[in-house]
Amino acid sequence: MITIKDLHKSYIMGQNSLHVLKGIEFTINDGELVSIMGSSGSGKSTLLNILGLLDSYDEGTFHLNGLTMENLSESKAAYYRNKYFGFVFQSFNLISFKNAQENIALPLYYQGVSRKKRNQIALEYLTKVGLRDWAHHLPSEMSGGQKQRVAIARALVTDPSVILADEPTGALDSQTSLEVMELLTQINNEGKTVIIVTHEQEVSALTNRIIRLRDGLILEDGPTEKVLANV
Ligand code: ADP
Ligand code: MG
Repeated sequence: MITIKDLHKSYIMGQNSLHVLKGIEFTINDGELVSIMGSSGSGKSTLLNILGLLDSYDEGTFHLNGLTMENLSESKAAYYRNKYFGFVFQSFNLISFKNAQENIALPLYYQGVSRKKRNQIALEYLTKVGLRDWAHHLPSEMSGGQKQRVAIARALVTDPSVILADEPTGALDSQTSLEVMELLTQINNEGKTVIIVTHEQEVSALTNRIIRLRDGLILEDGPTEKVLANV
């Protein structure tokens, strides 16, 4: 469970400070499929990066499974990040000179899993995302949708409880976007919390709850049909 209260974040640039998150509050329970929707610049990525312990916040509280995430050391943050979160990005962030199976196996390498074991687990996840026959292909040999499936498999391979996806369909056509959203929905149905950042209503419409951001504040937070009725 993720609980944040009165969360603030500013970026300092020289003499200037940009107040990006201006008091954000919500609770996301285990097993939810939720989108954080808002136009470009509304603070979505900043918020997701804070939730995933990739960035710090200035004010407010943040609890993950009842534990405070305040003032974590780098190593503590890395520990919780690796334990609880899997990340998916718009630009896939695959390693170009590693094949699909190696990309998926990489997080297991950092956990000290043996080569044989990690290749076996990576193949299981490749199969899960429907790409078993693509194990030895490089990212450059795959379509955008296939690359995002590899990235999703990589996010899942350490069995995190929460998947954080920042504009996961942002680089995909609408049919492929739908397929990627179906995969994320399936992962949610299997028990994982899935949090998706998007500026697209069509993507938000496929989640169960929408947290709508505008200029660093929550405009609305509720069941999808209810929020979309007011957009
Ligand atoms: P979104 O993901 O909704 O498009 P972001 O969270 O990326 O929004 O950005 C919110 C605001 O913060 C934007 O005005 C952006 O330019 C600014 N911003 C984002 N990251 C940084 C940074 N590292 N340094 C300074 N300003 C930033
Ligand atoms: Mg963004």
